[in-house]
Amino acid sequence: MSDPGWFEEGARIAVLTAEPIGKPLDYRAPEGGCFPGAFVEVPLGPRKVLGVVWGAGTGDFDMAKLRSVIRVFDVAPMREELRDFLLRMADYTMTALPQVLRLATRAPGLGDPPGLRKVYRLGGDEPARMTDARKAVLDVLRDHGGAGFHLGELAHLAGVTTQVVKGLVKTGAVIEAEVPRDLPFPRLDPTLPGKALSEAQAQAADALRASAGGYSTTLLKGVTGSGKTEVYLEAVAHCLAQGRQALVLLPEIALSSEFLARVEARFGARPGEWHSGVTQSERRRLWKACGKGDVQLVVGARSALFLPFRDLGLIVVDEEHDGSYKQEEGVLYNARDMAVLRASLASAQVVLASATPSLESWANAQAGKYRRLDLGARFGTAEMPEMGAIDMREEALEAGSWIGPTLVSEVTQRIAAGQQSMLFLNRRGYAPVTICRACGHQIACDHCDARMVEHRFLKRLVCHQCGETKPIPTKCPSCEVEGKLAPVGPGVERLAEEVTRRFPDARLSVLSSDLFGSARALKETIVEIANGGADIIIGTQIVAKGHNFPKLTLVGVIDADLGLQGSDLRAAEKTFQLMRQVAGRAGRAEEKGIALLQTFQPEHPVLRAILGGDEEAFWAQEAAARQAQGVPPYGRMAGIILSGPDLQPLFDIGSQLARNDAALRRIGAQVFGPAPAPIARVRGRHRVRMLIKAEKGAPLQLALKGWLKGLRLPNNARIAVDIDPQSFL
Ligand code: ADP
Ligand code: ZN
Repeated sequence: MSDPGWFEEGARIAVLTAEPIGKPLDYRAPEGGCFPGAFVEVPLGPRKVLGVVWGAGTGDFDMAKLRSVIRVFDVAPMREELRDFLLRMADYTMTALPQVLRLATRAPGLGDPPGLRKVYRLGGDEPARMTDARKAVLDVLRDHGGAGFHLGELAHLAGVTTQVVKGLVKTGAVIEAEVPRDLPFPRLDPTLPGKALSEAQAQAADALRASAGGYSTTLLKGVTGSGKTEVYLEAVAHCLAQGRQALVLLPEIALSSEFLARVEARFGARPGEWHSGVTQSERRRLWKACGKGDVQLVVGARSALFLPFRDLGLIVVDEEHDGSYKQEEGVLYNARDMAVLRASLASAQVVLASATPSLESWANAQAGKYRRLDLGARFGTAEMPEMGAIDMREEALEAGSWIGPTLVSEVTQRIAAGQQSMLFLNRRGYAPVTICRACGHQIACDHCDARMVEHRFLKRLVCHQCGETKPIPTKCPSCEVEGKLAPVGPGVERLAEEVTRRFPDARLSVLSSDLFGSARALKETIVEIANGGADIIIGTQIVAKGHNFPKLTLVGVIDADLGLQGSDLRAAEKTFQLMRQVAGRAGRAEEKGIALLQTFQPEHPVLRAILGGDEEAFWAQEAAARQAQGVPPYGRMAGIILSGPDLQPLFDIGSQLARNDAALRRIGAQVFGPAPAPIARVRGRHRVRMLIKAEKGAPLQLALKGWLKGLRLPNNARIAVDIDPQSFL
């Protein structure tokens, strides 16, 4: 795409809207002309919609009948770099361009004029009649009133009633002015000194600074607590000092309060925040400030990647291995990979930080595509926790309990010593299965291929696929026998019961995303725990992510075998990452920590790799296995999901696609399926899955396009293409 720079009034221009039309439509440039990239309002049928001036018009639609742009919004035009990014992302993810544009315009009312508020400032005139009260007001304004005050604020500071201020306005001694409601973002000061860095940290920071100024990707690997954050904040400081903007992506909003406080301590002010917990007007304010270059640093969730930065110099992807960077609904994209794409177009630097990188990033570093920096030990005196297995075949476990005697005794010792213990179980709710002891029936969701999970806290059964809930029945829905339904297996709520029974005097805190009404409540609890407000913490995987609990010295993993079953090609990798992350929670301050894994198969290669701590050996072994199978990151994959209310038509379409695979065979790609997806029904819709496998360098998207061209689906059926699928659901 090449920009002409300016469109004169009346010129034929192409405008892309977020409406499902597929491509830009031609319009006439408005009175006064417009820039390429300008955000505009255009007529579309009877409606007025938001659009972006995408370039010169190309159609041959009669110029005389062309409709005109209604107005140009008073925001910075979308830069060529971002338009280019959206185009390439649409291509890569095989998504229609308008859908991708929608990701970049998620600031409601961005065309609205900025809200105004009234402020009171010093006028020129002296009031004819001076009183003590009036003098007090004028003194406040003379001393600190440059920008002006709210009415109430000014009256309060002067110790007078608002009537006094109003009176002064009438005399002309004070003037009323309207200023934009959106306050500017406070400036961050990159020249403030950071912490004194260790030798290894300083070297890594130097290396990052040296490669700033253009595109590069660096994998910053270091155990939890080694100071990766300190190091990449140095890169942020350098970027800000160059006058460019920086973006830090975090996987979890719960992380951000701790993180924002750290940024504030480092740079003297808070950065911009972008995630689902931010109010609409704050979003709009940040979105606009990004475009004007008025916000220096943004901390956000994956969708912050689509903000209209004026000059983006650095993207940090913290905990880059985290599964939540993959968006699994709507536009299917991986924010980590798209960060690398955007940075390459913006001449920006990327830092991927993790204690347990994804195999993709590990392999890219191995192949020399990414640079790799390693931080070895933990900072200061804190040591990596010792890790050990508890062989559950040798533990005498009472019925209905999941904490073995070894773990019980370890927790007891911690309580006596005033230290914290964490029990990790990656299962929300009370019990994963409810079974009828009379007939063996398991209660399933009516709309999904999933068992209902008992949530005692909610007093209901919940489907973790679709969210459907129902009361816990007393009678088996299959054999109708009364009182025989029983929970099987533990969730965190049931584990909490056991803890309360065994340690009645201990203060217990359960961290599970569904037990908190809001992200704020969860944040508050985390801060409370960090300050010592609990003796025992029970948590699902939200606890694995970067929180600092200085008094925590024991992590007990209730079921280390949980992730090892299943056909997911990343099962081993994910278990490895999760266990190492969880273990990393222990012993972050001066006290040494230990992580104990309850397992029935301590000899399993993945568990041995976790316990042995030889990470490079684990990755090398995992890489070799994937290479042998030709799967990612050593081969390419796409998932195709066909969904609809009836199963048979989906299979028919799938089979027909599989037979007509010439376009795929041309690039040597193979089709697997159709087969029922592992989750075969969601919200009453059947799901049929196909997998496409190709060699690493193969032009997969192009072949898929050719293959799916001309596909006609029944009205109620959908097809979704997932490039580089992460989960195999
Ligand atoms: P990571 O991001 O690798 O988990 P952090 O940067 O969060 O590690 O560092 C872990 C802890 O050690 C934090 O509390 C941090 O403030 C502290 N820390 C790390 N490096 C230093 C340093 N050079 N000086 C002082 N404290 C440090
Ligand atoms: Zn369901």
